[in-house]
Amino acid sequence: MVTDQYRLIGAPVAHSLSPVMHNYWFRSLEISAYYQADLVTRDELEQAVMQIRASGIKGFNVTFPHKKSILLLLDELSERARLIGAVNTVVCAGSRLIGYNTDGVGFLQGLFHHFPNLAQKQHLSVLMIGAGGAAYSVAQILSETIAERIDICNRTMEKAFHLSAACGASVLSDALTFAQAEQHLDQYQIVINTTSVGLMPEQDHLLIRLDHACRHTVFVDLIYQPRRTALLKEAERHGFPVLNGLSMLVYQGALAFQMWTQLVPDSRSMESYLENNYLS
Ligand code: NAP
Repeated sequence: MVTDQYRLIGAPVAHSLSPVMHNYWFRSLEISAYYQADLVTRDELEQAVMQIRASGIKGFNVTFPHKKSILLLLDELSERARLIGAVNTVVCAGSRLIGYNTDGVGFLQGLFHHFPNLAQKQHLSVLMIGAGGAAYSVAQILSETIAERIDICNRTMEKAFHLSAACGASVLSDALTFAQAEQHLDQYQIVINTTSVGLMPEQDHLLIRLDHACRHTVFVDLIYQPRRTALLKEAERHGFPVLNGLSMLVYQGALAFQMWTQLVPDSRSMESYLENNYLS
């Protein structure tokens, strides 16, 4: 009989690879546990958290659209979750719910796994496209580690200014229009799409042209389904190194798994397993 229960809550969740990933790790480490995705809408969040509290569930992940709104429903936050203002992982310690954010560190571990040379760097200039929740986690970890400058371009300029101001506490940062970002593309060693543009095939388009990028710029997209968004296809066409969001998914998930079980799962083989079996 399976003993420990884990959840993903969000809307939508049907597309998520997290259940496949965590259940595979439970089986391979012979842990008697089960992870399941529950569709929880905005209106249902408070009730869902109350049920989790009473149910004896060991931990859960939080995804769109609850990463910010869940903060008020938790008992304690890690320093990183507090700084970012969002939670993606909750540990249930008895009836106490403790919120963490593993997205940014997961992003960085995945980036270093694919581009180990970046781990030696400290003064990189990064362009982030997008200023939503995921952008905050990524900007926060980059500003603590390898970035000296993080510029932000976003459709809604007000949000670009807001994230740029947050980055400005520890690194150089400007908020740019898409046209300005395009023109200064040669200044960046890493360009990251953190928008949801690319998730839907009919809405996948380039937000910036890449003509001015330098030869070694690494192009990253947080989206992993499809495996190559319009941005990554265009970057590959120009011969630039690219990385999709699968490694971030796996490494952020591995960090959550470690918090719940105190065991380190195999992230490397999980990435190839998901790549080969689930990505289109
Ligand atoms: P979010 O908070 O809703 O932010 C969405 C961002 O996309 C905003 O910057 C928004 O710009 C921009 N955007 C949406 N539609 C646009 C359009 N048509 N044109 C230009 N910009 C547009 O979402 P999020 O939680 O940050 O997630 C962003 C992406 O990261 C999603 O694709 C998500 O799947 C991915 N993600 C991946 C992982 C992973 O593990 N790989 C983890 C977390 C998130 P405005 O501000 O102008 O609305």
